[in-house]
Amino acid sequence: MLWSGWGDPAKATELPEPVRKLLADFLGVQGPAAPAATFGEVRLPAAALPPAVLAALAAITGAGYVRTDDDARIRHTRGRSTPDLLRMRAGDGSDAPDAVVLPGSHDEVAAVLRVCAEHRVAVVPFGGGTSVVGGLVASREGFAGVAALDLSRLNRLVSVDVESMVAEMEPGLRAPQAEELLASHGLTLGHFPQSYEYATLGGFAAARSSGQASAGYGRFDDMVVGMTVATPRGTLETGRAPKSAAGPDLRQVILGSEGAFGVITSLRLRVRRAPERRVYEGWRFATFAEGLAAVRRLAQDGPAPTVLRLSDETETLVGLAQPGELGSSATGSGCLVVAGYEGGPDDVSYRGERAAAVLAATGGVHLGPEPGEKWAHGRFDAPYLRDSLLAAGATVETLETACFWSAVPRLYEAVRQALTAALGSPLVMCHVSHVYGTGASLYFTVVTAQTDDPVGQWAAAKRAASEAILRAGGTITHHHGVGRDHREAFGAEIGELGAEILRAVKERLDPAGVLNPGVMIP
Ligand SMILES: Cc1cc2nc3c(=O)[nH]c(=O)nc-3n(C[C@H](O)[C@H](O)[C@H](O)COP(=O)(O)OP(=O)(O)OC[C@H]3O[C@@H](n4cnc5c(N)ncnc54)[C@H](O)[C@@H]3O)c2cc1C
Repeated sequence: MLWSGWGDPAKATELPEPVRKLLADFLGVQGPAAPAATFGEVRLPAAALPPAVLAALAAITGAGYVRTDDDARIRHTRGRSTPDLLRMRAGDGSDAPDAVVLPGSHDEVAAVLRVCAEHRVAVVPFGGGTSVVGGLVASREGFAGVAALDLSRLNRLVSVDVESMVAEMEPGLRAPQAEELLASHGLTLGHFPQSYEYATLGGFAAARSSGQASAGYGRFDDMVVGMTVATPRGTLETGRAPKSAAGPDLRQVILGSEGAFGVITSLRLRVRRAPERRVYEGWRFATFAEGLAAVRRLAQDGPAPTVLRLSDETETLVGLAQPGELGSSATGSGCLVVAGYEGGPDDVSYRGERAAAVLAATGGVHLGPEPGEKWAHGRFDAPYLRDSLLAAGATVETLETACFWSAVPRLYEAVRQALTAALGSPLVMCHVSHVYGTGASLYFTVVTAQTDDPVGQWAAAKRAASEAILRAGGTITHHHGVGRDHREAFGAEIGELGAEILRAVKERLDPAGVLNPGVMIP
């Protein structure tokens, strides 16, 4: 993973000249305010952990798995939101952890937590490092230092119960590794977020992730049937049956807890048979309102496609659903729907034909497989494009929410207006990224010219959009999580009593308050 950008450096994309011209002509993009810092120019605070603490940690994991070198510290600094990348590009390593600890087992995680609680060292569980909400920046106040707890060594497929379709897997597995291991059993999780290449199973559970094929496979939290969690107070086991009436579901306390209640060291996950056939296709609707009515009908009455995504007029025009087509005239007008079907051949045909009848009856024009295939081909490419846009002097960032269907039009307009008012004349694009019987998730992508203070520029826009979301009845996040960035809005969403419940749980599981302080809990 690039230290100040996304992914595999070999996959970096150059912006096509027409796109550069569009950025300059329509958004006034004139290049970045300053050249990006090199790795060696990143300013790091002195590593603060006392030698005795480092020695106690090394006694648990082995000395090679407690790192304090610049490389490890820089690579565990913050996550991958646009402000995170802008800060790294500016050489700001001020949030770097003092040490990176790599435990190799549940028992080692538990022992590390005990040492950190005893010495008041803040612990940041670190999966793939792809948080976009500040979930990897612990508050330092009152602590002896900060340790990133890198879970990448917990990377085993522990067991597969094919009869129950449940796999036990470790949290440090990155999604492609997990899929590869399951594929050897003819199975899949079906979880494909845009961060697929780098994000981990533990991070998916801890931040309640949702993938691009959620219409068919469900959200990640739907897949979790059980977890083992190391806390400073001991081990918590959750989930012993597919469903239970044994009191409140403690899995729900851990899902979305973002490392503030404990460290997930093992997951029991519902798996599916790997699909034999995959078909993706495109449909065009004249307006966003018509497209919304169509995808709502599919979500409510079925049959459910595996992938269902509706771009608004602007996103369709720009071609963001097919990054390879960006800026080309091939993308067209109206609103693009991508519908995908995965499964056995008969099931794919049956659902495809029935869904096509619904989409045609609701005003859709069938575009054939090409737009769907292009979407599938470029589905993990947008983060690479973001790096090129940042380097060119554009600020590009995304935000997401969910609401009931009846509130969607109001919320859509409110967020667009808030972003436009805050940023002048940005490009605001939106798509419906996840659908349910009762509502949908809206995912906004914003592009604007960078000012001299791009971090402050985005913070103001994000604040305005967050207020608009809450006023319009949406949730502050459908799948990115709370982190530090959404903490205040999350507090407004759940109210003081809700926040008190979370604080009480934290106090019981983590009395010294060392687990990801400052993250998630309002
Ligand atoms: C380009 C890009 C695209 C993205 N697309 C999507 C998308 O399509 N859908 C989506 O849902 N999200 C998306 N995200 C957000 C992000 O990938 C998800 O939040 C993901 O779940 C984070 O996984 P991770 O392994 O990287 O976790 P990290 O970023 O390492 O951690 C996330 C949070 O969980 C905590 N944590 C991590 N592992 C554990 C553990 N084992 N136990 C306890 N706490 C833990 C961390 O402390 C942190 O607070 C995207 C991010 C980027 C940068």
